Amino acid sequence: EVFDQIEKKEGKVHAYLDLYKKDALARAKEVEKGIMDGTYTGPLAGVPIAVKDNICIKGKKTTCASKILENFVPQYNAEVIDRLEKAGMIVIGKTNMDEFAMGSTTETSAYGVTRNPWDLEHVPGGSSGGSCAAVAAGEAFMALGSDTGGSIRQPSSFCGVTGIKPTYGTVSRYGLVAYASSLDQIGPVGKDVADCAALLEVIAGHDPKDSTSLDRKDLDFSKSIEEKKLLGMKFGVPKEFLAKGLDPEVKDAFMETLKVLTSQGAIVEFFSVETMEYMIPAYYIIASAEASSNLERFDGVKYGYRAAEYEGLHDMYKKTRTEGFGEEVKRRIMLGSFVLSSGYYDAYYLKALRTKALIKQEFDRAFDKYDVILAPAAPYTAPKIGESLKDPLAMYLGDIYTVAVNLCGLPGITVPCGQDKAGMPIGIQMIGNCFGEHKILRAAAAYE
Ligand code: GLN
Repeated sequence: EVFDQIEKKEGKVHAYLDLYKKDALARAKEVEKGIMDGTYTGPLAGVPIAVKDNICIKGKKTTCASKILENFVPQYNAEVIDRLEKAGMIVIGKTNMDEFAMGSTTETSAYGVTRNPWDLEHVPGGSSGGSCAAVAAGEAFMALGSDTGGSIRQPSSFCGVTGIKPTYGTVSRYGLVAYASSLDQIGPVGKDVADCAALLEVIAGHDPKDSTSLDRKDLDFSKSIEEKKLLGMKFGVPKEFLAKGLDPEVKDAFMETLKVLTSQGAIVEFFSVETMEYMIPAYYIIASAEASSNLERFDGVKYGYRAAEYEGLHDMYKKTRTEGFGEEVKRRIMLGSFVLSSGYYDAYYLKALRTKALIKQEFDRAFDKYDVILAPAAPYTAPKIGESLKDPLAMYLGDIYTVAVNLCGLPGITVPCGQDKAGMPIGIQMIGNCFGEHKILRAAAAYE
């Protein structure tokens, strides 16, 4: 069914960078047998899934949508891939993304843009745009994305699907190509909350191969949505989030959602977030600093692309990186190297770390009062293709509602909450305290 849909729509949508039809069909037969003989007993056995192309699959190309990794084939599986396989899930292909997950539209991919299945003139969001577009188009039932500053929650909003960024450390990053290691998390994208909860249950869990992996005992995420009740749940809304910069139609859909929650017995209150204006600067300084360090390894020696002609080692590095990386990635490497350089470290990087601590304190205080914090997922609906790259700073500002969650390590889920006049989907974001997946899943399932 999924491959029929791919046949019909992929030519226009371009959600995938690679498809494994033959392998997937063979694996489906194997899994079918495994279900019969009791090898696979979980609810997702036999379910096809798409995987973002920054997650390693043994023997399959992993490009991060970058020219510099155009022929890179990993020798091992990411931990999440092993877990999908153990659950009897069937990986059907790799999805398009912004190069190295840097971007908000999937337009920085070196392999062409992905189009939003709701309207092909629009972007699907990013950086997990391929994963969200695949699910929205029915070209996959579920997908894995990664979220460093909103890359699951924002494209989920633009594509009208559901996506979760888990508490930092819940899902192993082993085999996820690092963008900003202190912020990156892999998470599920699906058609609804139940699908995402089930998939999160499959991929979550302690992994000694990731030093930041947590040993949580509360991984029964599907159970948390059995009781779909909002009665008595306390929701907080940062009032600064609804001020300038928010598209009126997105705001209307957001306010409408607050009414629905209240009518179902939830308590909704507004509160003040004083650190809002520092969220984007702190995020882009920290993310770029970590990226500049993580991307040092792509030097033409160990991985993928190497420039064809060069004079000596230094020239080889220079040409390889100049030719192999795209504009946005180079911008981040330069920005990151700058803020880490001596003389500027205290003024920028250290200050960003301090700012992050202040933002965390504000969220901590809010969670003393509220079970869930509500926010838009993005200030606007999916822009048209070609509109965003012209002004990178404006694009960075579009991440205003998602980056604090990563800076604080919190879980967040996006669920659809309406459409604008043009028919493009709008999502609402529910943010939980650390380990608060159960609360946001319950709230999201009761609301959807
Ligand atoms: N748009 C943000 C960035 O470019 C977030 C990306 C992400 O979460 N991977 O950094």
